[in-house]
Amino acid sequence: MAKKEKHHIEIYKSWCKKCGICVAFCPAGVLAQDDSGAPYAKEPDKCTGCQLCSLRCPDFAITVTSPKNKEPKGSAKGPAESKEGVNKQGEKA
Ligand code: SF4
Ligand code: SF4
Repeated sequence: MAKKEKHHIEIYKSWCKKCGICVAFCPAGVLAQDDSGAPYAKEPDKCTGCQLCSLRCPDFAITVTSPKNKEPKGSAKGPAESKEGVNKQGEKA
């Protein structure tokens, strides 16, 4: 019951033209359209984070943020990896 959403689905209503493409392409049946045709996350717990809805939306009106996408940037390269330059000083002998 108290399970947290694995993936966060955000729909920008002002950009959405209610075409229903995202609903049609979602393979997990997460999305549905309300009476006005606007999409909403009917079953957010079923979202796999596949990004199909976001990729297919012609108006960039839907985004899905997954926990894996929130990794901090800049961790691959940093000042700590410049140790090689120190070894060159020992070449004289
Ligand atoms: S990310 Fe995939 S599973 Fe989740 S709502 Fe979009 S299409 Fe459906
Ligand atoms: S595909 Fe995009 S524009 Fe179409 S209903 Fe979904 S969010 Fe709205």
